[in-house]
Order: sequence, then structure tokens, then C-alpha cells
Amino acid sequence: MKKIIVGNFKMNSTVSEFKTYAMSLATKTKGTKNTVVVCPPYTHLTTAKEFLTGSKIFFGAQNIFDAESGAYTGEISAKMIKDAGATYVILGHSDRRNKFKETDKLINRKIKTALANGLKVVLCVGENLQTRTAKQEAAFVRKQIDDDLKGIYENELESVIIAYEPVWAISTNRDEKTKDITTKEINRMVDVIRKEIEAQYSKKASQNINVLYGGSVNLGNYKRILGNEAVDGAIIGGACLDVDNFAIIAKENY
Ligand code: PEP
Repeated sequence: MKKIIVGNFKMNSTVSEFKTYAMSLATKTKGTKNTVVVCPPYTHLTTAKEFLTGSKIFFGAQNIFDAESGAYTGEISAKMIKDAGATYVILGHSDRRNKFKETDKLINRKIKTALANGLKVVLCVGENLQTRTAKQEAAFVRKQIDDDLKGIYENELESVIIAYEPVWAISTNRDEKTKDITTKEINRMVDVIRKEIEAQYSKKASQNINVLYGGSVNLGNYKRILGNEAVDGAIIGGACLDVDNFAIIAKENY
């Protein structure tokens, strides 16, 4: 089964390191049936364009601003990343929501801007530990979906991928004692997401939308997580930084 594998570099690597990475990834993943997407920092996008064009690897950014242009010192627009060659953009990542206080309203505006500029959106949703401990994760994720996708038409969902990323399962947020999420639990939350898409749109939309899982996917667990038919792919942070590891996950036949 063909999967979507998204690598989120976060704020890591230099341009020259990424150049080596991109060339190596293109070689190592040649012939993969999966859709492979790398999302490096903005400064690396033109390098991605130069060294990934001609390969089957897509690339994207990790954020955009919601306005098209103007007096927003330090921000980057959808048009700018598109011009740099990006096809995808990650929006609503928990780093953005928690560390930069991005609200669902802002994320909703960013999604609209991204779609208007012809980008594909990887929308991250997921609860933190406190919400999970209170058993509110399903309601929380449903609300994120409703708020983030408000005003987005069903035909536009073709360009939206939803990534279920429980904040507590992301490698940089967890301690050694936290156990990997079970397949059953991933499936339960993927089902919550699909049912919400069905409630807001249609059965067809819920069947067609791609739902990824993200949170400490690595060489030790990727076969279990991606071998699961309920998930359409994975978003991978820490483990994507090592090109050999990422290529193994990206190349696998699921
Ligand atoms: C992420 O932050 O998007 C992520 C999935 O990270 P990790 O794979 O390191 O848990």
C-alpha cells in the first residue's frame, strides 16, 4: 500500500548539510512507491528545488504567515514558498501552537492562504498529556478539526492531509518512560478524525482524506505503525534527520 511519508526537519541543519542530505535521499529512495515529502527550514527550500527536482521527492515548508504580503517583518508568505518550489506546507504543528501560541483561528487563515496559493497542507492536530489524562482527546481533536477547517470547501480537502500527532508522543516532549502509542489507540483516533470529516462534509470526504500519524516514528516501530492499513502515512521528526533512517522508512513497501 502506498503511503505518504513526511519528514519535518524543524530548526535543524545548515544549507550545505541539507544539500548532501537531499542528494543522498533522492538516490536512496529511487523507485519508492510512497509519496515522500521533506520539509526543511525556509532557507533550504531553493536548495531542495535544485537538488530534488527530477527526483520523485516533494518538499515543503514548516509554516507560512497568513497574509499575502506587507509589513510583517520576519514572516514568509505562501506565495514565497511556492515560488521557491514548495508543494506542501505543514500547518498547526504543536510546536507552533504551543511555543508560538498559534490559535485555531490563525491556523484556519493560514490554511486558506495556503490553499489559495495552490499548496498542499499537512494539518497537524493532537492533544497534550493533560487533555489525554482527562480523557478529552477525542473532543479536543474534533474541535481542532472543526475550527481549523472552518469555511474550507469539500473540494479543497483534496489538498489537505490531516496528521494526528499526540503532543505527548512527539520524541522531544516525552521521557524514556513513555510507552509508544499502541496501534489500537492510533486507529481509534484516526477513526475520530474520519468521523468528524464525515460529520462536517460527507462519507466520501472522510474516506478520501489522508490521515497520517506522527509521534516518535522510528526504525524500531515504523513497520508496525505504517504497516497498519488505517493510517495513510506518517510525519517524522527526529528520525528524518538521519538520511539513512529516513530513506529506509520512505522506501519500504507497505
Ligand atoms: C514532529 O514533531 O512532527 C514529530 C513527529 O516528531 P518526532 O518524530 O521526533 O516525534
